[in-house]
Amino acid sequence: MQPADERFWAALLRAHDAPELADLVCRPSWMARAACRAHPGVSFFPVRGESTGAPAKAICRSCSVLAECYAYAVEHEERGIWGGTSERERRQLTRRSAAAS
Ligand code: SF4
Repeated sequence: MQPADERFWAALLRAHDAPELADLVCRPSWMARAACRAHPGVSFFPVRGESTGAPAKAICRSCSVLAECYAYAVEHEERGIWGGTSERERRQLTRRSAAAS
């Protein structure tokens, strides 16, 4: 499914009050290979005052879809640990990348 198609279906399903279905239908195929799926007890969304997400980042380091996950998180401005980075780290990396180009 192309990103434009994903946005169309997501918008349609959300408009019809089915946000969970929208997320399920429009989920990128690489998510099926996500290493975090095998670790439901590990938090990938640490809240303020909790750990830095180190256990989640350790799982990410062995994940075969780390690059796809990172790119997705940047594109969708996701919160939490994605692609082995926190939201703050992704913002810093994006700024550095923009400054270097
Ligand atoms: S990189 Fe981390 S957050 Fe992303 S799919 Fe893999 S294990 Fe999950």
